[in-house]
Amino acid sequence: MSKKLRIAVLAGDGIGKEVMPEGIRVLEAAAKRFDLPLEMQHFDWAHCDYFAAHGQMMPDDWKAQLQGFDAILFGAVGWPATVPDHVSLWGSLLKFRREFDQYINLRPVRLFDGVPCPLAGRKPGDIDYYVVRENTEGEYTALGGIMFEGTDREMVLQEAVFTRKGADRLLKFAFDLAQSRSKKHVTLATKSNGIAISMPWWDKCAEAMAQNYPDVVLDKQHIDILTARFVLQPGRFDVVAATNLFGDILSDLGPATTGTIGLAPSANLNPERNFPSLFEPVHGSAPDIYGQNIANPIAMIWSVALMLDFLGNGQGAWRSAHDAIVDAISQTILSGPRTPDLGGQAKTPDVGKAIAQVLA
Ligand code: ATP
Ligand code: MG
Repeated sequence: MSKKLRIAVLAGDGIGKEVMPEGIRVLEAAAKRFDLPLEMQHFDWAHCDYFAAHGQMMPDDWKAQLQGFDAILFGAVGWPATVPDHVSLWGSLLKFRREFDQYINLRPVRLFDGVPCPLAGRKPGDIDYYVVRENTEGEYTALGGIMFEGTDREMVLQEAVFTRKGADRLLKFAFDLAQSRSKKHVTLATKSNGIAISMPWWDKCAEAMAQNYPDVVLDKQHIDILTARFVLQPGRFDVVAATNLFGDILSDLGPATTGTIGLAPSANLNPERNFPSLFEPVHGSAPDIYGQNIANPIAMIWSVALMLDFLGNGQGAWRSAHDAIVDAISQTILSGPRTPDLGGQAKTPDVGKAIAQVLA
């Protein structure tokens, strides 16, 4: 009997509480069918009701409580009516990303059959790539300052910090992923014609990494034309590696070209498994639709599939479970039931049940 992998479940706020049960439903169906040794534990914190009662988003010993888990399933956090978004976000999700060194933010971008595409004339298969975003360093720092404030010499300086270790581990992940796919193609998001120090350095790091992967093509593209091509020529992309800021922008643009935010999943990975990795939908807590049970649970369910693939190193029954969930999603999008964001009238659990049934 193999050791059970442990999953911590934190549903969060708003529609996080509506989509999480559907993620669990599908997870249980997949675990049963593929005989995956898993156990789950639910935690009732990292949400804004907890903040209202305790003045913080999480208990002081949150890290010790989660440290031994293999993965964290997260719904969505944020309830701006009671807690400002920066407080809820910095008090939970961003702590996980940083303290658990989840340096890869992975977002698959794929157009499913049956989803209206905002790009004219695109068919399923035309959009199928991954954005691999650096999640812990880069442009997002608090280094810098404002000088001569209020005078006519007022100036501001904001630093970006990249480390060789940080660049190499991001690039290695991107090249490994590309090598496992049929196109075997990495696009580096760069701007070495304008940002004169850090971006030429990134180009060099990527060229050096490419030497280790003779079967993978490296294509360096400036971020301006790259964003245009996400819209005009999405078929050019396979794996897109990007710094924190560029990746942030690309990983919203990419999913936006494939229909609804209700489908887009993400993984925050610590590939070495020194810490648990975290899997969550791209969307937020959506206070505007919370309480009606009309949130699309597919982003959550697809995040569950990403988690299983990661837990099994992309192999064996775990990979089969991932593929089966994505197939069941694809089939359900086409045949229904569909939530209102996909033009249907179904409720959140209808979609979760349908996907679980395809899997059973
Ligand atoms: P965040 O601040 O967490 O990045 P946000 O608050 O800006 O996100 P969301 O909560 O993702 O934004 O909501 C953006 C819009 O998308 C809202 O109109 C919301 O109703 C809609 N939406 C988000 N998730 C879903 C979903 N799963 N199904 C249907 N509609 C959704
Ligand atoms: Mg929000």
